[in-house]
Amino acid sequence: MSRLDDLAHALAGLGTRLHDQRLVARPRDVEEVAACVRAANGAKCSVSVVGGNHSGYGQTGDLVLEMSNFTEMQREGSCLRVGGGVTLEPLALFAQAQGLAAPLGTAPTVGLGLVLQGGVGHLTRSRGMSVDSVRALQLVTCTGRVVEVSGDEEPELFAGAKGCAPNFGVVVSLTLEAAPFRLCASARRVFPASGAALRTYMAWAASLPNDCSADCCLYFRDESALPGEGDLLMGVYDFNFDAGASGEVPLEKVLWQTSRESLGPKELMAHEPYLLEQPEGICKTGCLSTRSFFVRACFVRKDADIADVLVECLEQAPSRHCFVHFQHTGGAVAQSSGVFAAAEWSVVISGAWEEKTEAAAAAVRAWVLGIVQRLLPSSSGTYATDLGPQDDVALAKHSFEPQRLERLLDLKRKWDPENMFRHGFPLAQLGED
Ligand SMILES: Cc1cc2nc3c(=O)[nH]c(=O)nc-3n(C[C@H](O)[C@H](O)[C@H](O)COP(=O)(O)OP(=O)(O)OC[C@H]3O[C@@H](n4cnc5c(N)ncnc54)[C@H](O)[C@@H]3O)c2cc1C
Repeated sequence: MSRLDDLAHALAGLGTRLHDQRLVARPRDVEEVAACVRAANGAKCSVSVVGGNHSGYGQTGDLVLEMSNFTEMQREGSCLRVGGGVTLEPLALFAQAQGLAAPLGTAPTVGLGLVLQGGVGHLTRSRGMSVDSVRALQLVTCTGRVVEVSGDEEPELFAGAKGCAPNFGVVVSLTLEAAPFRLCASARRVFPASGAALRTYMAWAASLPNDCSADCCLYFRDESALPGEGDLLMGVYDFNFDAGASGEVPLEKVLWQTSRESLGPKELMAHEPYLLEQPEGICKTGCLSTRSFFVRACFVRKDADIADVLVECLEQAPSRHCFVHFQHTGGAVAQSSGVFAAAEWSVVISGAWEEKTEAAAAAVRAWVLGIVQRLLPSSSGTYATDLGPQDDVALAKHSFEPQRLERLLDLKRKWDPENMFRHGFPLAQLGED
């Protein structure tokens, strides 16, 4: 019998299914998660976990655990305790109904993979990254043991799991500190892109108070262009949670602008500006779903002199569907994050291709990775959430400071010595040199 046969046999009562040489289970409670992991351990099978399913890595283990039954949410004082299969929009709406807000990402269907490994969104500057608000986890470790992990219980594991939890087990639930809810005003303006315009945006954004953030996206206009100059556009989108603190990027030649008041999380997610709202570019042609993507990000410092380099790189992009998104961090991250070194932006390099050929994919990947290499000297590290075990070991070396990495490797040896949870961030591989 193969290992998978052994595993299927051990889990016969749990309604697993075989899919693409993997066994897929949808556990209903923590005991079933523990039983699945114990059985996988016994059969020497690896385990991966599907949360919101936005990374692709959750579906690659010998045993795939789908967490869609774990969507319960409850308030505990100023905290929210949520199941390991919750996605961001229901979580943000539940928090709002309690008069609370948690720092999350900006897209509705993303899952807890974001919270467990980082989490950049509109509240990052005032509250830190999502992971900075995690107060406790219930984790099923590789032996099937259920462990409560917090600053008081298993504090070393807690410190490591913040930012790297998928390497240590299955998160059945987590507790997030929340803040009082506030509505947001948002303005969106599109300009012709240039090195000078990007420099102006960067200097202005870095000077904003923590209650405001301003993202920026460099992208190509589509074929049905707006009146105006240039092929490359720069959208600047500000999010203001304090009515008194507004401002405007000091740039002229606005090609398009709009603003909205009193936005809650549902509206913010529904009007995600760079993806959904602009009159042209990126997704205007509606073929997001028919394109293939390759995305990597790094955390860029405030003083980075990268504007000309980035515009030059975009001008050489292998497809018009490539774009670069500055997600604004800084602010509270500098004070609160013990996980990621402080930086002013998560700069997300997105490459997309329509032609379904190896050559098109390779050209886009090379373009994305080339930009990351050029940004690294101006950054405090790569964003771990995008990185997987196949080709990302070199980039993963830049995700955590050396001391933190050593501690993470020690924890990995202790809590997952056989590297059963090996399908996301390649932690164990970083200790192999
Ligand atoms: C459209 C889109 C928008 C995005 N927007 C943002 C953004 O605004 N800010 C930002 O910071 N990032 C953003 N990201 C990146 C995102 O944070 C990562 O892709 C993240 O890993 C997705 O988590 P997931 O749960 O949806 O995906 P999954 O693929 O299900 O999970 C990602 C990883 O986390 C693990 N995991 C998930 N749930 C659990 C659990 N309960 N226990 C243990 N391990 C688990 C999985 O095994 C996998 O390794 C975005 C990505 C996409 C595709």
